[in-house]
Amino acid sequence: MKIMVAVKRVIDYAVKIRVKPDKTGVETQNVKMSMNPFCEIALEEALRIKEAGMASEVVAVSMGPAQCVDTLRTGLAMGADRAIHVDATGPLYPLSVAKLFKALVELEKPGLLILGKQAIDDDCNQTGQMVAGLLGWPQGTFASKVVLDKEKQLATVDREVDGGLETLCMDLPAVITTDLRLNQPRYATLPNIMKAKSKVIKKYTPQELNVEIKSDLEVLQVTEPPKRKAGVIVSSVDELIDKLKNEAHVI
Ligand code: AMP
Repeated sequence: MKIMVAVKRVIDYAVKIRVKPDKTGVETQNVKMSMNPFCEIALEEALRIKEAGMASEVVAVSMGPAQCVDTLRTGLAMGADRAIHVDATGPLYPLSVAKLFKALVELEKPGLLILGKQAIDDDCNQTGQMVAGLLGWPQGTFASKVVLDKEKQLATVDREVDGGLETLCMDLPAVITTDLRLNQPRYATLPNIMKAKSKVIKKYTPQELNVEIKSDLEVLQVTEPPKRKAGVIVSSVDELIDKLKNEAHVI
């Protein structure tokens, strides 16, 4: 069985985000970019499934500008066997990404598609659900544990929900999206970084995949959240109660 894994290139989680002066988006020039943390978890899970003898190949996929190749090289250094880059400039909203994944799934025929539960740049949390819908495949979203049964071609997925743990059993092929507690992704070792340089990255354009990139959404503006005001130190409980009552109006 082949596993396809989505790896999105996003602004590194440790970078302080700056909004562009014209409010059309956030600044990405000269900003450190990394693999989306939930995608690292997705790739780690695919590699563990392969190492357990349940899969034969792990294919990493990234969609976006030419620099996505760097993210794919990281994925190859972590252990993916090969990679696919869908070269697309301009904004890519979840429905377009889901359509591109559907086209790639039809070409590559993986038995499992694993994505992050959300991308930390757009926080949409939509792509996995949309691609499962487009493919007509079952979905196990926000997975905190994945167990595969190779004989019966089933996946059992634990999901952390408000009331506790929900366990779903689904036929393969299926779509799984990963939550934070699923695993701890590995670091790429130096020898694997070197090996990754010779692994294959195949390139497609959306046109080659017969997908038109368009969106019904228009971003009107992006603004920074209001700055937090400095706190004050009160000298007594009475003063605190007075402020809560007469200034904050919360009691
Ligand atoms: P989102 O629905 O945008 O929050 O993204 C959910 C997941 O879909 C991400 O964690 C990725 O695994 C995958 N994904 C979204 N956009 C891309 C992209 N441009 N390239 C690769 N994977 C993506």
